[in-house]
Amino acid sequence: MTRKVLIVEDEPQNQFLFETLMEAFGYDYVTTDDGRDVVALSRSHKPSLILIDIQLPHISGLDVVAQVRADRDLKSTPIIAVTAFAMRGDAQRILEAGCDAYMSKPISIEPFRQTIDALLDGTPAPLEQPKRHPFAVSVANQ
Ligand code: MN
Repeated sequence: MTRKVLIVEDEPQNQFLFETLMEAFGYDYVTTDDGRDVVALSRSHKPSLILIDIQLPHISGLDVVAQVRADRDLKSTPIIAVTAFAMRGDAQRILEAGCDAYMSKPISIEPFRQTIDALLDGTPAPLEQPKRHPFAVSVANQ
């Protein structure tokens, strides 16, 4: 059974990027632009991993993470936070909020894939990666 990733991202350009990468990596996905829907979507779709933009409208991505971590059935779901460049210094706050890993935009494809694979295999994920990577993709910084 193909594993499913819940993509929580409000920027259409980034949604498209993440969806394209999930297909390339061999995962199914469900996408929402509204963090308020994450708990309900996770209950219905049972994703193997949640990929969440921290900067969302209506609710902070960190508050969404707190909701997931407080839910008896969802609390062990791996979560990767994606942050804007300006938030790189907030790594500790993001990890303390309950995320398993975080990555700054622009996302570098290979470290991103390795992080997802590591979380889904139950092995420790690399944390922040070097900013410069030959396959770095520029995405909207929001
Ligand atoms: Mn955003």
